[in-house]
Amino acid sequence: MKRIGILGGMSPESTVIYYRLLNEGARHALGPLATADCLIASMNFGEIQAMQKAGEWEKAGEHLARAAKGLEAAGADLIILATNTMHRCASAIENALTVPFLHIADATAEKLKADGRSKPLLLGTAYTMEQDFYKGRLINDHGMDVIIPSAAERELIHSIIFEELVNGVVREESRGAYIAIVARHAAAGADSVILGCTEIGMLLDGSNSVLPVYDTARIHCEIALDRALA
Ligand code: GLU
Repeated sequence: MKRIGILGGMSPESTVIYYRLLNEGARHALGPLATADCLIASMNFGEIQAMQKAGEWEKAGEHLARAAKGLEAAGADLIILATNTMHRCASAIENALTVPFLHIADATAEKLKADGRSKPLLLGTAYTMEQDFYKGRLINDHGMDVIIPSAAERELIHSIIFEELVNGVVREESRGAYIAIVARHAAAGADSVILGCTEIGMLLDGSNSVLPVYDTARIHCEIALDRALA
């Protein structure tokens, strides 16, 4: 098995999900006692969040690129960044590496296309929903007709991520709010929903969403494991 390098800690809740999914996947593929060969570089999320707020994406990119190089030097054969938002810095990371970097939006778009979906509702942080680095990639590189929630919905979605989910807090009221947003956009024509923030799976899944769910954390782990086992 190839060694998977994980840029994590953004948030730790997300990294826990990745670690669990990678090991469950390895067990499923290889047998009861198998585990995933992986390394985690865990960032200080407080520092990263301060850079996000200040718009210091270049500084954040340098920080993540340094950590990614450390993972490569420690033997990682491929690198994943366990957050959608920080893919804003994907090219800085990719340019620092000689091993492959698996982009979370590409993995997700390939899965949507394979299922014949083209009108996904995108849920994520305000950075992911509003800036071009993510939805632009889905639209321009993958031909998706991406639907973005309204301004009021985006504010609610973002605040639930940063005030609750990244701190491990799961509230039924917040789950209800997400379910209602998905239902509204399903009625307006969305054909799927992208959980474009790696913690949203704490609230939404196939059992409570009226739209087919594309959980980026899950898809990213599946792709990484496929590559590691190839
Ligand atoms: N993990 C989240 C994401 O997928 C949000 C935390 C962050 O800002 O990195 O976007």
